[in-house]
Amino acid sequence: MKILVVDDDRFIREIISAVIVDAGHTPITAGRDEEALPILAEGGIDLMLTDVEMPGLNGFELTREVRRRFPDDWFPIIFLSGQCDEKHYEEGIDAGGDDYLTKPVSPIVLKAKILAMERIANMKKALDAANSRLEKLSTQDPLTKISNRRDLENNLLKEWKRSKRKTTELAVIMLDIDFFKPYNDNYGHQQGDECLKAVAKLLKQCLHRSHDLLARYGGEEFVIVLPDTTADGAAEVAAKIISELQNANLPHAHSSVAAHVTVSMGISSTLSNAETPTSLLKQADEALYKAKENGRNRSEFYLPEQ
Ligand code: GH3
Ligand code: MG
Ligand code: MG
Ligand code: MG
Repeated sequence: MKILVVDDDRFIREIISAVIVDAGHTPITAGRDEEALPILAEGGIDLMLTDVEMPGLNGFELTREVRRRFPDDWFPIIFLSGQCDEKHYEEGIDAGGDDYLTKPVSPIVLKAKILAMERIANMKKALDAANSRLEKLSTQDPLTKISNRRDLENNLLKEWKRSKRKTTELAVIMLDIDFFKPYNDNYGHQQGDECLKAVAKLLKQCLHRSHDLLARYGGEEFVIVLPDTTADGAAEVAAKIISELQNANLPHAHSSVAAHVTVSMGISSTLSNAETPTSLLKQADEALYKAKENGRNRSEFYLPEQ
């Protein structure tokens, strides 16, 4: 662990540092708040041991400041104080500290406390890692590893608001694989899954801007969100998708439109005055229906007057 020792007494800093080194950890020292805060701002501190009586912010004030400034970066804090009355103990825990030791500190007790805090810090790290894995899982489609519908809806709402704020155009493409039922029926469900993965990968390669979002909407339907893009810009992306699918030439002997896997796409943008992100998707879905009707393997725009 990287352990920050804050004490205005150099002699105490040295003794505590020696105990920390002896316990197999790395001490970093600061004489007061002004030295400690920049070190903490850099991140990577696993435990802080702080004196209470110091010039500038005292240990309790420093702890409150640390918890206020770094709410997402929790690590244990232990006070080392000359005062041993109960009121002080209570105040320290209330300020956001986790334990309280009185000076002179026994090296054995300090080492034991460091070990106990290390266990808590490790549990916290494992919990954070598990949470971020869960977070990822809850936004990802397990088959294709792209965004799922839930992530799409969250991001579309964000991009929708951003486009309103910045008065930029936002386009969406609703995309559906053509004749996918006969594909499954003839090649089998597993091959169908492989096809979905291959199409998702190809679609991702057709998107170049970091804000573009590709999501699996459901079954064999995908949605592409294109911020700062006009409907014509989206049509260019659609044309690229059609030509890349032709190049990829994923065999589909049971399609009535081509010998390879093709898709149909519906395009809508915020210029067509949808009132909500949901209605923008609905417009794109209407345009997709038209693309199916007009022969598949193509894209169509949503036209408001229809
Ligand atoms: P169209 O050209 O009009 O889009 O016809 P289609 O056959 O593609 O459309 P339909 O909606 O009739 O069939 C969609 C099929 O997609 C039904 C189902 O077998 C298949 N499907 C949906 N989700 C999955 C999936 O996760 N894996 C596999 N393998 N197939 C899926
Ligand atoms: Mg002091
Ligand atoms: Mg469908
Ligand atoms: Mg389909």
